[in-house]
Amino acid sequence: MQTKKLSTNIEDLERAGAIIRDGGLVAFPTETVYGLGADALNEEAVRSVYAAKGRPSDNPMIVHIADARELEPLVRGGRAAISEDTLKVIGTFWPGPLTLVLPKSDIIPDATTGGLDTVAIRMPSNETAYRLILAAGRPIAAPSANLSGKPSPTNAEDVLEDMDGRIDAVVMGEACDVGIESTVLDMTGDVPVVLRPGIITREWLSAVIGKEVRYDKSLLEEPSEIADPKDGVAETDFKPKSPGMKYKHYSPNAQVTLIEGNEDEFRSKATAFGMEARKKNQKIAVIDYGDDVRKAAHNLFADLRELDRLGYDIILIRTLEQSGLGFSVMNRMLKSAGYDVIK
Ligand code: AMP
Ligand code: MG
Repeated sequence: MQTKKLSTNIEDLERAGAIIRDGGLVAFPTETVYGLGADALNEEAVRSVYAAKGRPSDNPMIVHIADARELEPLVRGGRAAISEDTLKVIGTFWPGPLTLVLPKSDIIPDATTGGLDTVAIRMPSNETAYRLILAAGRPIAAPSANLSGKPSPTNAEDVLEDMDGRIDAVVMGEACDVGIESTVLDMTGDVPVVLRPGIITREWLSAVIGKEVRYDKSLLEEPSEIADPKDGVAETDFKPKSPGMKYKHYSPNAQVTLIEGNEDEFRSKATAFGMEARKKNQKIAVIDYGDDVRKAAHNLFADLRELDRLGYDIILIRTLEQSGLGFSVMNRMLKSAGYDVIK
């Protein structure tokens, strides 16, 4: 398959929208990471997303909408089933990098939600994403536009690296502003629960809703088993509320190791590690984002991919303080390192 490179002008976005209406796959920029979009209501189109990514079919997708009025038909029970708390977070954070898990209506095929009776929905703030959803004229199901298991792509070149020849088109937009995926917030229980941390933090959500928002317990402990997405649907005892959490994620080809400590401690531990690796002729890269968590979020995935292209064997990264956005970026770093941390 020849993958078309489309621009962000009106004509090209109309073309991209038509491809999606015809059941095709189009990667596009959002404010978080690039998404791999298909018609969320077309079962066959959604199945081809799993195939293009090598994604296990039980790992559900996020449904992207352009207007809050598109929400009701997607939710079981419609307007009456949307709580006051949900309206509050929508009012504050949409459009933006917040995904809400809500009961799913019957118009959404099971393939989109990996067989769950809930659906993850968000309204992106990125203008190209907004215009593409309008051009398609329907909600767009979109996971991140990478091969399953790899770091998410945050620029168009990184999308092509994984997806060239596997999808119909890429909208060649700008680099993503945030750089890590959206916060996923489960609104189906008595207490809102963060299933995936992002730039919209738990503390911020608690303040807006006016009640305690919890982290899902899978975020607070090292998972007992991590399945390789290459092996297909994993039947493991670890059954997190967010099915994506049971799969290997964000892994470059290089081995990633995290190192704790202040700047000097990090440098000396990294040097000691590097001396050993050099004896084995391994090429080592060192990343220290300092306390700039925004920069860490923005650059992490792009840096991992760039270092792979440059042929590094080992990537050493200094850990971040685990609060606010730092907690969210550390969630990605820990997964990319397979939880390998030098204290
Ligand atoms: P990605 O599309 O790659 O950004 O990943 C989407 C994330 O949202 C995955 O970790 C999914 O497990 C999670 N997700 C999507 N739909 C649901 C849902 N209905 N309930 C819980 N988690 C979901
Ligand atoms: Mg992903």
